[in-house]
Amino acid sequence: MRTLQTDVLIAGYGPTGETLAAFLGIYGIRAVAIDTAREVYRQPRAAHFDHEIMRVWQRLGIAEQVLPSTRALPAYEFRNSDGQVLMRFAQAGVATPSGWAPSYMFHQPAVEEALRARVAQFPGIDVRLGTSLVSLERNDANGVAAIVRDDQGLETRVEARFLVGADGGGSTVRRLIDGQLTDYGFDEPWLVIDTVVTDEEGLPPFGLQMCDPKRPTTVMPMAPLRRRWEFMLLPGETPEQMLDDARIEELLKPWVRPGQAELVRKAVYRFHGLVAKQWRVGSVVLAGDAAHQMPPFMGQGMCSGIRDADALAWRLASAVRGEASPALLDSYQEEREPHVRSIIETAIFMGRVVCTLDPAAASKRDQDMLAQRAGQRQAADPPPPPLEALNSGCMMPGARAGQLFPQAMQACASNGVCGRLDDLLGPGFWLITRNAKIDTKWPMPVKTVVLDEDISDESGRLNEWLDSTGASAVLVRPDRYVFGTGEPAALAAALTQAIGR
Ligand SMILES: Cc1cc2nc3c(=O)[nH]c(=O)nc-3n(C[C@H](O)[C@H](O)[C@H](O)COP(=O)(O)OP(=O)(O)OC[C@H]3O[C@@H](n4cnc5c(N)ncnc54)[C@H](O)[C@@H]3O)c2cc1C
Repeated sequence: MRTLQTDVLIAGYGPTGETLAAFLGIYGIRAVAIDTAREVYRQPRAAHFDHEIMRVWQRLGIAEQVLPSTRALPAYEFRNSDGQVLMRFAQAGVATPSGWAPSYMFHQPAVEEALRARVAQFPGIDVRLGTSLVSLERNDANGVAAIVRDDQGLETRVEARFLVGADGGGSTVRRLIDGQLTDYGFDEPWLVIDTVVTDEEGLPPFGLQMCDPKRPTTVMPMAPLRRRWEFMLLPGETPEQMLDDARIEELLKPWVRPGQAELVRKAVYRFHGLVAKQWRVGSVVLAGDAAHQMPPFMGQGMCSGIRDADALAWRLASAVRGEASPALLDSYQEEREPHVRSIIETAIFMGRVVCTLDPAAASKRDQDMLAQRAGQRQAADPPPPPLEALNSGCMMPGARAGQLFPQAMQACASNGVCGRLDDLLGPGFWLITRNAKIDTKWPMPVKTVVLDEDISDESGRLNEWLDSTGASAVLVRPDRYVFGTGEPAALAAALTQAIGR
């Protein structure tokens, strides 16, 4: 059998695996990425991503390719069967730390194509499609040996320093490490229908949850001229009945004119909440749906996998280069799991609001939510609550640690080049300070950036942010989360400890 050696073997080349491969390419790490399928899955599952993920696409250099197949979402509404608004989050014009709009609706295959084209630019990333991971011969502190098989039956042994299981909800990698799942006990069947429409006349421009106990329904814009409807299956209904074209036409009748929508996809999914108990065993790590799955009411399943890939890539790169101990990987689950769980719990809360079938319970819910909305009446609807910050992991506890560092969208470097902050400063750790005389010794490469000298930000946002911490400097991680704020020497000592050196 042929043997192949690499730094990181990525099993599964969906959005999580593609993002991880692209970041490893940027960090100059060798990887082999495999996927059973030969092509990008043509039908989108995810329809929404948030500002932080748009910033990830920017950092990967594909924002401009992604934007044409997206649209910013102006609002997200929950209505009752009478059409009364129970809850509404306004998103248009809301500022975010990333500098991008709060939420985007998009066409998943277009984003995946852009990601794959980006990965193809890195000679160190070897992508093998039509190839499955079938077994694990070795998994210890020094690395893994895995057997992969292509669709012609040819087997190869891949020896890698790390294996990342990004192979989706039915993960083979999770099974091979005997991974157990915890189950939130939410399990609801829904019909998902995607359409291409001739025009969007009469269709809501925002995301809509119809909390109608007679038929809970989700109505979502996707990419321009693409629309999704989701209909909850009622007790006694079978997937076969719901997938019947005549039934689908009947379900869509209240929403579209004859001939307005062409059906391009129909599927029944069970929406559930699952989290793997152990995200790392030896040199094997789980990411994306292999590590967690959630109901789509927050549109955060794929986003969470992208965050996993971002959090994992710099840790793997640092460990492969010997800059950090592999123990740095322990902080991956420590910080990602609570973040993911808080999203799953909110998504399940929203799901329970939407999926109420008992008319009496629905009526009580409506009264409570309408009263709450009337009580909170403000001039405008509130923005969506931000996702939780990281509350433990690779960071120096203190002001703003674990938050996303803000991005200035119009900064200028000392050489006169202006643009978005992340593009100007590039990948890696940044120490941002106003003190030009810093000569701190760092345990790994850190770029020192002197505000108003190396970088100026006309909006004043970065200066304001630093002033609000009361600290002289901020250390920003490669995934753009704040490691900590404080004196550079203290930050260097905390970083040395956090990376296990
Ligand atoms: C109806 C619906 C709506 C959703 N809406 C949203 C949304 O709006 N926003 C959002 O963020 N998320 C959403 N999600 C969730 C999102 O689709 C998933 O979280 C996301 O696809 C997970 O990406 P992944 O790369 O981790 O896994 P996957 O996309 O499942 O990719 C895994 C890959 O691994 C490959 N593979 C499997 N086994 C092997 C093996 N043994 N060897 C090699 N390759 C293998 C598969 O072929 C596949 O390509 C939605 C999901 C559903 C079902």
